[in-house]
Amino acid sequence: MDIHEYQAKEILSRFGVAVPAGALAYSPEQAAYRARELGGERWVVKAQVHAGGRGKAGGVKVCDSDAEVQDAAEEMFGRKLVTHQTGPEGKGIYRVYVEAAVPIASEIYLGFVLDRSSQRVMIVASAEGGMEIEEISAERPESIVRATVEPAVGLQEFQCREIAFKLGIAPGMVQQMVRTLQGCFRAFTELDATMVEINPLIITGDDRIMALDGKMTFDDNALFRHPQIAELRDKSQEDPRESRAADRGLSYVGLDGSIGCIVNGAGLAMATMDTIKLAGGEPANFLDIGGGASPERVAKAFRLVLSDKNVQAILVNIFAGINRCDWVAEGVVQALREVQVDVPVVVRLAGTNVEEGQKILAESGLPLIRATTLMEAAERSVEAWQSEQAQNTQVRTN
Ligand code: GDP
Ligand code: MN
Repeated sequence: MDIHEYQAKEILSRFGVAVPAGALAYSPEQAAYRARELGGERWVVKAQVHAGGRGKAGGVKVCDSDAEVQDAAEEMFGRKLVTHQTGPEGKGIYRVYVEAAVPIASEIYLGFVLDRSSQRVMIVASAEGGMEIEEISAERPESIVRATVEPAVGLQEFQCREIAFKLGIAPGMVQQMVRTLQGCFRAFTELDATMVEINPLIITGDDRIMALDGKMTFDDNALFRHPQIAELRDKSQEDPRESRAADRGLSYVGLDGSIGCIVNGAGLAMATMDTIKLAGGEPANFLDIGGGASPERVAKAFRLVLSDKNVQAILVNIFAGINRCDWVAEGVVQALREVQVDVPVVVRLAGTNVEEGQKILAESGLPLIRATTLMEAAERSVEAWQSEQAQNTQVRTN
């Protein structure tokens, strides 16, 4: 789960990371009021959307009066901000953050990520801040400093000092850098984050180190331990198909193809998508209904897949290990009785209680297409989709 910049900054500041003074606004008038409240002569108005690259897309404006702040906010509210990270549809701006502008002497990139190959938290930093990390690694790879954290002892001060030295931080500011790095690391581990990114982390004209931007992503599977983080979720920033799925405990990623997939297990879902492509089709989604898929859950998955208007055929692919094929079959039957399904459905079941499962499907009298192997299931669903397409064209030409 992603959160907004202002929320990340509030969290990081609780862990000892310095941030500029700022306040949130839900309207242009409130933005101007916030600027007067903050005081000073210069402010930065920042669109709060779950995406980076706002600066280049008109989502960050430096203003010299409260009237300018109001105008900048006026420009942003209700608009969709399209950055290179949002995709062409953009993300709606419903909140802006007003910050006291700070003079920047230099910009640093700082990121904390989970490095899968070393199975550790990795710190990635560069004195070439302001640019995206992808650009830095393409253009100035030698500027990137990396360090991994030994989980048994946590982030050590000597490591922080070493990073600070490699970034060329003046000796008098090294202690501030240590505090910043340790604060980020503690926020990362204590709150079960999967990513903390500060770009830029700045050195101000008066020798202070501050987070000018902040991005945090959290492990969805750990959110139950952090209700105060779970509360920060903003559905206005999510793909509506994906939020509906998340609300129902399903793991779903919307794609552009026409074959809807209902699968248990992420690995099997990936394999199913690959096999559909191999058979000449395009998957409409990734959907993992999880291990203990009750009939109700299968029915929910059907409703979700059918809510995507691009879906012209459905492939149900279940390998029952912990699960049971008869439960899944009941779910499929229940779903097809409850939900109006007017596209062909291919079902492939394997594993525990497969015979009972097949029997339930056969006796249901529903027009299901059954398959034994994954390849066969994929081919059948591609055929079904193709004949569906041919029919649709016929209807249109008639
Ligand atoms: P992003 O483009 O979405 O990553 O948004 P950022 O929060 O990183 O802001 C983009 C850029 O705006 C920064 O790299 C800064 O150059 C500039 N900026 C943001 N806040 C301030 C500020 O308080 N003072 C000044 N001078 N520039 C700022
Ligand atoms: Mn940034």
